[in-house]
Amino acid sequence: MIIAVDGPSGAGKSTVARILAKKLGFLYIDTGAMYRALTLKALENNVPINDRLRIFKLAEGARIDLHNNADGSLSVVLDGRDVSLDIRKPKITQVVSDLAKIKEVRQVLVKLQRELGAKGDCVLDGRDIGTVVFPDAQKKFFIDASPEERVNRRFKELRGLGQDVSEDDVAKDLANRDKIDSTRKASPLRKAEDAIYIDTTKLSIEQVVGKMMGHIS
Ligand code: C5P
Repeated sequence: MIIAVDGPSGAGKSTVARILAKKLGFLYIDTGAMYRALTLKALENNVPINDRLRIFKLAEGARIDLHNNADGSLSVVLDGRDVSLDIRKPKITQVVSDLAKIKEVRQVLVKLQRELGAKGDCVLDGRDIGTVVFPDAQKKFFIDASPEERVNRRFKELRGLGQDVSEDDVAKDLANRDKIDSTRKASPLRKAEDAIYIDTTKLSIEQVVGKMMGHIS
């Protein structure tokens, strides 16, 4: 069974998708982590993000593995190196959406996502899972929250990771990524027609997961 979880940045999709996968005993695939890992590779190799051809070549040569750990966390491994923390840094977040709008890069990563999904039951979270990657997914969710709440959540999350960011920085980043992600030509962020919309603004994580479970069982 494939469960697609899409939505804008900071709506809490990764958190609920990861918990849902653990509860169901499914594999959890964080597709945003793949775009982030590739962005890290580009920055480390001094490849400009707008150099489509070189970024595409980099994508083709990259080995990105996701490991579901027993405690429910996820390790992201790029070319054999654990980059789970590095990919959450502001310098990645600031430019990842510019890399993610490159059509050819998306083709490489979507292929990888489909291969992983074909291995069995899984929950995938991203922006285009229900619309493009797995349009035939058995269950689709679109997880949303008010812009203010999304800023608030992301701010707390980054502070929890020890990052010295201001709420204003986070608000600007989310607005910028929302704009790029929803207006790009290649697979823009949008709700699949058959996706279940959940506004999580006033809900706890447990309540959101509970609602999702209610739609599955
Ligand atoms: O989910 P996360 O915020 O980590 O994703 C980082 C970025 O990767 C998003 O802002 C978006 O630009 C891109 N992305 C995407 N398609 C996906 C997952 C993420 O374009 N399926």
